[in-house]
Parts: sequence; C-alpha cells; structure tokens
Amino acid sequence: MKHIHLFFAVMVAAIAASCGNPTTADLKPGSTVKVKCPSENFKLTCQVMTDNTSAADLLFASDGTSGYEVRFHGGAIDGTTKTGSLTGIRNRYRSIVPDNEWFNFELAVRGKNISVKLNDIEIVCYTEPEKPFRIDEYSGMLLGKGECYFKGSIGLTKVKDIKISALPEGEKNPSDTLPPVDEQSDKVIRLQQQGFPVIDYHVHLKGGLTKEIAWGRSLNYGINYGVSPNAGEGGDGRMYATDKELYEYIDDVKLSPFLYGVQGEGRKWITTVKPETLSAFEYLFTDAMTIVDKKGKITRLYHPEEVNLYGMTQEQYMDYIVDQTVKILTNEPADFYANPTYLPDAMQKDYEKLWTSGRVDKVLDVLEKYHMALEINARYRIPSFDIIKRAKARGIKFTFGTNNMGADNLGRLEYCFEAIDSCGLTPDDIWFPSMSIRSTRKAVNYNNF
Ligand SMILES: [Zn+2]
Repeated sequence: MKHIHLFFAVMVAAIAASCGNPTTADLKPGSTVKVKCPSENFKLTCQVMTDNTSAADLLFASDGTSGYEVRFHGGAIDGTTKTGSLTGIRNRYRSIVPDNEWFNFELAVRGKNISVKLNDIEIVCYTEPEKPFRIDEYSGMLLGKGECYFKGSIGLTKVKDIKISALPEGEKNPSDTLPPVDEQSDKVIRLQQQGFPVIDYHVHLKGGLTKEIAWGRSLNYGINYGVSPNAGEGGDGRMYATDKELYEYIDDVKLSPFLYGVQGEGRKWITTVKPETLSAFEYLFTDAMTIVDKKGKITRLYHPEEVNLYGMTQEQYMDYIVDQTVKILTNEPADFYANPTYLPDAMQKDYEKLWTSGRVDKVLDVLEKYHMALEINARYRIPSFDIIKRAKARGIKFTFGTNNMGADNLGRLEYCFEAIDSCGLTPDDIWFPSMSIRSTRKAVNYNNF
C-alpha cells in the first residue's frame, strides 16, 4: 500500500508542478519567466541555446530575487563563469556545450544535493552541508522553499521544452558519493563567493588519478581542474609522444567538466609535436625542470643522479640553470612557466640565497616580454612569496597548479591560497586562456636537436 500511496503522491505532484507552466522562454535583459515547481525533490529539464555573449540565469529555491542561480553563458575561457555554473558556489570557467546550438539542460534537487547536467554530462554535484558558508550577498542561497525563475541579463538566451517533474522523497543522486565539504573551514567556497577563480591548471591524469576520480573530486571540492597530458618524452609517468595520442586525449576529455591544456615535456617537444596539435589544446605550458647540461646531456633536475656540475661551483651552476630557463622561456612558446624556480634537491635548502634579485629579474623579464604567466605551484610550494610579489608588481599574471604524480599528491591548492593572502592577489592577477599570445610566437630549435 505504502508504495502505491507514494506513486500517486509523485504523480499528483508532477501534474500539479507542470500545470499552467510556460514551456518556452526568450530571455532578454530584464525578462523573467516564472516556473512553478516543488520546493524540494524535483527535476527541471529543458533545451537551451546561448550565443557567445548572451547571459541568463535559472534561479531556484527562489522568491524571484534570492535563491540559487544556475548560469547560462558561453564564449571563450576568459574568467567569466560559464554555462552550468552554480553561481558563487560552484563557478565553472569552460562551457562544455557549443554556442548557437540547442543543448539539453537538467537541474535536479534531491534532498540537499543539487545536480546540473548539460547534454547528460554532470558538471555540478553539490551537497549543501549542515552549516553552509554564505556571505551576505549569497545568504539566500539555501534549499527549502521557493520556485524557479528564468531571468535574462545580456543578449538573447532561448529556452524550450521546459518540463518539471517531482522526484521521490529519499531518492539519492548516484554520483553523490563523497561527504559534503565542511564549509565552515573551507577556503574554496569563500573564494568562489568572492568571484576568485579556483582552477588547478596543472593536473595530470596519471599514477592512479583516473578521469573518473578527478571528476568526482573536482565536483565535490569545487576546484576546476585543467587536465594536461605531458607531450614529448622523458618525464615521469605516461608521456604522449605522437600527435595521434594527443588528439585521442582531447577526444577523451573534452566532454568533461575539465579544462584541457598540454605540457611541453623534456626539451625536444618543440620539434616532435606539430604546432597545430598543440593549438588544439586550450593552453600550453612548460617548465625548466629538464635542462640541457654543459656537455649537451638532457638532465632532469628532479633526478639527483642526473645532475652533474662538471666542477662548477653551486653559484656557477645556478647561473647555468637561470640561463637555461631564460632560453627555454624565450624559444619554447608557452602560455605559462610551470614548476617555476624549481631547484635540484641538493640546492633547495639555499633557495632564498640562490634566487638573487638579479637572477629573478632575468626570468621575470622573459615572462613579461612574452606575456607569459607564472604558475604558483601547490605541490612544491614555489615560487617564494617574495618572487610572487615581484612578479605581481610587474603586472605578470598567475596560474595555480599542482603537477601531481598520482591521486595522492593532488591537494586543494593550499599554497596558492596562502599566496593569495600573503601577496595580496586579486582575481585581476589571474591568467586565462583568452590572454594567450602563443599563436603569434614561433618555436625555435635552439638546441639543434
Ligand atoms: Zn606537469
């Protein structure tokens, strides 16, 4: 009997919810379309079309002004929040649906879990914790009551086939498997509400970090991941040596909630990977952890047994590393300098002494000249705050990155968040792919490989 009661209750709720509701909406600046829906346990589906400038929102658990907001906004990765973002809670910076084409949209609220899917791909899975953190501006973003409202803000956003259905009480979102974040101590939710982009551009799907694990963590933590293969040879873990492998990588990740960049690995990548293959990625970065030593030998500074000073003093070897770094950044057209200022194990204790202002300036000069950004690396905790402040003073932009070797050393950008506070970084200091000038630069085979 109980099941039959529940069935009828759901049916009645579904019919009541759909009754008299609009099924289409042309959203222009200032327009509002109300959709009656249950206050909890419901699903709203529709088809949506944006262009590269239009913007609109779907408010839910709302009285027409407050409540949660899902964003509809396409266009390039430029720091604005993109389609599917749960504004201020789970901001996303790449739209996985094309502009000027209809896509399927789904919002589902099951208990305290909010799920957003675009063309059946889940890009938000957020569970409101017992004690949510909300700044004043977002204090109305709480589940429990209210209805749905579509609101236009820029240009024209088209919506059709709007359908509401009630979901059975107690139904769980099958992908909601991780415990909710404790927002009373979480830094990410605070940055999201300040409009500070939270993106780890330097995530590698290797060493046990599968696409699925990364996907689950990204949605749960609220950190956007830029997943990047290592193109070239000689690094640790999986390398992508051929153009074919790199295109297959893009096909595998492009319909996921990730940004996708590529890391130029080793030093030969500029001669072995086609420029058009690299252009297919949303961004490109490299580091100076691999250098060509005095005798022409490829040396990975993170493998102590490969580091050979050939009788040079530590100071002389430091000059050599700086010289190599400048050559790399000058001749290998990348968007940002990753794992920056990394030193071999034996020299790390003298980091402050060895990175003199003269040496730092040589590296920052190149970044400035070629509009390259400086990665703040969470795993190695480099560069120092002093160097970050000097770069900021020159107007150099920053990315956050981890360079994980597996699932275990992918953290939550702790050092990057410390740098925001200690160095006074603001959202304006952050780099985005829309700032890239790498297509205007030519790779130079300066090592004559
Ligand atoms: Zn890396």
